[in-house]
Amino acid sequence: MSHSKYEYVRQYESDDKLLPNCWIVIRIDGKAFHKFSDVHQFQKPNDKPALDLMNRCAERVLDQFRDVLLAYGQSDEYSFVFRKDTVLYNRRASKLMTNIVSQFGSSYVFYWKDFFPEKQLKFPPVFDARAVLYPTNLTLRDYLSWRQVDCHINNLYNTTFWNLVLKGGLTNQQAQEKLKGTFAADKNEILFSQFGINYNNERDQFKKGTTIYRERVEVPMENGQIKIRSKITATHCDIIGDGFWEDHTYLLD
Ligand code: ATP
Ligand code: ATP
Ligand code: MG
Ligand code: MG
Ligand code: MG
Ligand code: MG
Repeated sequence: MSHSKYEYVRQYESDDKLLPNCWIVIRIDGKAFHKFSDVHQFQKPNDKPALDLMNRCAERVLDQFRDVLLAYGQSDEYSFVFRKDTVLYNRRASKLMTNIVSQFGSSYVFYWKDFFPEKQLKFPPVFDARAVLYPTNLTLRDYLSWRQVDCHINNLYNTTFWNLVLKGGLTNQQAQEKLKGTFAADKNEILFSQFGINYNNERDQFKKGTTIYRERVEVPMENGQIKIRSKITATHCDIIGDGFWEDHTYLLD
């Protein structure tokens, strides 16, 4: 080990170790994806290949970081939930955030061509990251519910907005005016009466976002015993109600 007279500067590094025994959530979000989606001509309101690419990147993260047990994504964001008792990088917030976000960002570039074979990436995308601690299962579930409700509210708004613009012939501003102060029921009604769209029949991927988790699967072996394996699985189901959590109690145990 080398010890130079400069070593002391290490003491200027701040300790950002996250509290023990809490759920760690790292959320990443695309920087200025409003513009990014414009420049890359994403289909509005939902470009499916773009969402599939986000999911591919998240799967890569789960594949590389064994302590991430679940991830939830919608639009240009993804939340990664670490096991409560993870000791990865000694729970240092900056290490966890930067490793996750750079794995995600480089994957986005790396896998781009698989999802957009005909489209050139015009500039390198940027993602930010933050770390948040949740002390209980309830607060963690409320966090995930908050993100899924956000997905629902935005998607209903965006679906109505873009139908008014693309099929209804309104300008962006007119569509915005028309939707001001409307409730969910009003938007459902506009979609149905003006465009014959039953919002319930829209893709679950768009309405509910994507949850990726380590599913516990039982693999029967030749000697009759059963081996427990974990498998990275994606679903677009509701994670607000109890159903998903009752079916996968081991995730929060
Ligand atoms: P910020 O840097 O503050 O995050 P932003 O422009 O990324 O700014 P967000 O609130 O994160 O703003 O919203 C992301 C935007 O990216 C959405 O509003 C939408 O316009 C666009 N977007 C993201 N994913 C898709 C997609 N799959 N299809 C179409 N548009 C998308
Ligand atoms: P960690 O994830 O802890 O950073 P690491 O393997 O990246 O692990 P570092 O201490 O950061 O370890 O050292 C980087 C290593 O990468 C160097 O020891 C060297 O082996 C290799 N390396 C980096 N840049 C070059 C380069 N330009 N040419 C040859 N080897 C390089
Ligand atoms: Mg934002
Ligand atoms: Mg963004
Ligand atoms: Mg966003
Ligand atoms: Mg290194």
